[in-house]
Amino acid sequence: MIVNEIRSRSVLSKSKVHEYTVNPYVGCGHGCSYCYARFMKRWTGHKEAWGDFVDVKVNAPELLEHEIKRKRVGRVWVSGICDPYQPIEQKYRLTRRCLEILVRHQWPVTIQTKSPLAVRDIDLLRDSKEVEVGFTITTADEEIRKIFEPSAPPIEGRIKALAAFDSAGIKTFAMIAPLLPGAENLAVQLRGKVDYVLIDRMNYHYADHIYRRHGLEHAMSDDFLAGQTSLLATALRKEGTPVHILF
Ligand code: SF4
Repeated sequence: MIVNEIRSRSVLSKSKVHEYTVNPYVGCGHGCSYCYARFMKRWTGHKEAWGDFVDVKVNAPELLEHEIKRKRVGRVWVSGICDPYQPIEQKYRLTRRCLEILVRHQWPVTIQTKSPLAVRDIDLLRDSKEVEVGFTITTADEEIRKIFEPSAPPIEGRIKALAAFDSAGIKTFAMIAPLLPGAENLAVQLRGKVDYVLIDRMNYHYADHIYRRHGLEHAMSDDFLAGQTSLLATALRKEGTPVHILF
């Protein structure tokens, strides 16, 4: 992993998903095969493989403290193009320091991660009524997870982390995206741990070579996707969990 400490010029950016996004890092140590954020390689000139580099915005908290006073209040997505709790956050704690600022200023925040490291910050997040925490969980099948996201934390840890946030009284959601084979079995595991679930499909062009290499071509068909989505949504609704299908 190549780590560069950089000084950014801004950190509170406009977003199409929520009003703003804060990304304390460029690049992501989880290096998922299907990650759309790899377009950042073009913007930053990195030649390394996606997952092999991280630029650390060491001045992110100072920038945020400055920018937050100059912008209209809006929901902040932490994060849009990196995992805010990727392994390097353990050392730099930039996500935590940014969240401290957002919570202190009472800005609404949506956290999205794959990492149980987020549990570290429950003490901070439970002070805000405006925070929700989502875990991306793409399948219930650990073998499938290892194929598509080998460097990301195991599924069991993500589900336990959701339970910890829920027990702390913090609003939670699961982002089941991209929907991978085995996702249809997630309803029981998520029972009682999430306030709602979002489901979205894979952009196959990012990862079609992975499907082919592992004999999973059948999972790229529209029929498979429709059947899987229907099974999962029905099972979740049966458990009383609100579901939003995004495609
Ligand atoms: S955790 Fe998210 S941001 Fe990081 S590589 Fe995986 S999909 Fe991309």
